[in-house]
Amino acid sequence: MRGCSLKCSYCIVPAVRGPAVFLPAGEILKDAAAKIAAGAKEIVLLGQTVNAWRGGKTTFSELLNKVLALPGLQRLRFMSPHPLYFDDSFTALLAREKKLARYLHLPVQSGSDRILKAMRRGYTRAQYLDLLKKLRAAVPGMTVSTDFIVGYPGETEEDFNDTLSMVTEGGFTMAYCFKYSPRTNKPEMAATISGTVMKARLEKLLAAVKKNSSLVLNERIGKIEEVLFETETYGRTSGNFSLRVKAGGTPGKMAEVLVTGAEKNTLNGKVL
Ligand code: SF4
Repeated sequence: MRGCSLKCSYCIVPAVRGPAVFLPAGEILKDAAAKIAAGAKEIVLLGQTVNAWRGGKTTFSELLNKVLALPGLQRLRFMSPHPLYFDDSFTALLAREKKLARYLHLPVQSGSDRILKAMRRGYTRAQYLDLLKKLRAAVPGMTVSTDFIVGYPGETEEDFNDTLSMVTEGGFTMAYCFKYSPRTNKPEMAATISGTVMKARLEKLLAAVKKNSSLVLNERIGKIEEVLFETETYGRTSGNFSLRVKAGGTPGKMAEVLVTGAEKNTLNGKVL
């Protein structure tokens, strides 16, 4: 898909790329099948709000189902979804289909309801967290990463603290954190937070994300992960963690690995 039909206040995508336009299911399936025939093991469906995809009466979950049925596919990912477009059929599919990666990059942007409203994100903090709760209840151990913007115009210390607490409440494995910078000349979108404050908030947020990532990574020790190997010693888990083994991986094949340790952003393990 290209473009986006939402209207987040800080974003120029809808203005420069126009409203969301979707590739028909037939074209997506043909392209994915050709890539698998050429040796691809993993397919990633891409779009600004990828789960907004519709093809006539075909829903996004139905499209995922069709891609998952392609012979030879080992794993399917998609990014980035938007919290507004999840439905129960997706949750059921995620719980049922092991080839569908147990990982979402789900941008939240802020933990403050006041800022989320000003950003026109279309959800509250509680609604975002409820969605994570529902998905994790269906798929225990699902990992989630996110995006945050700090220093949005008018962001108070209290708003920022709400964003900070989202890091642990959301249990994010990773987050891309950005300082706000205006994309239009509209006076109401001018930065109001000083560079020094913005920098300090960003550093605090990055430190919280790093600490939480390490906690989440360490929680994996002792668990069994499904790993798609890229070399004999390196692969990615369904939850999108990098994982290393001493030996035993087969490139392009999935294997179960017992996680024995973690360092920095990588898990260590042993092929079962
Ligand atoms: S959903 Fe993403 S691409 Fe669309 S307007 Fe919001 S930030 Fe921009």
